[in-house]
Amino acid sequence: MNKEYLKAVELRFLRFTTKSDGCWEWTGYKDKFGYGKLTLMDGRYSQGASWSAHCVSALLYLGFDREAGLQVNHACGHSGCVNPAHLYVGTHRENMDDAIRMGEQSRGEKHGMATASDDDVAWARAQYASGEMTQTAIGKVLGVTQECVGYWVRGEFRQ
Ligand SMILES: [Zn+2]
Repeated sequence: MNKEYLKAVELRFLRFTTKSDGCWEWTGYKDKFGYGKLTLMDGRYSQGASWSAHCVSALLYLGFDREAGLQVNHACGHSGCVNPAHLYVGTHRENMDDAIRMGEQSRGEKHGMATASDDDVAWARAQYASGEMTQTAIGKVLGVTQECVGYWVRGEFRQ
């Protein structure tokens, strides 16, 4: 992809991105896993190829090369985040290790997922859905980690 095309991609990317001090929220189309989606003419198919928005962020700001067989992981655990400062290029294996580590940390905490009430989870989801609070802010109120709030919001724990 040449520089001019990347510039155009960045303009499209920024139209659907709400920047903040924490996570940058993707406001465009998202798939069922919460990942933003964008079609790029990356030369592989004439009609364009589907990219995850966080991978586009890594392409623009981290020099991510999709052909290298690596993937872009979230250090913040929020799949809808496209802040390049929260992303790192790594292997699928590293991503799995992170998920396991987060789980172990949460289990070890006094006020971890195991001790949160259903009301706390419902409140966290409602606050996050309203857009009034970040996952970090919600976590501070409830005494749990941002990762933990992220799990609840995505519905990975407690239905
Ligand atoms: Zn983030």
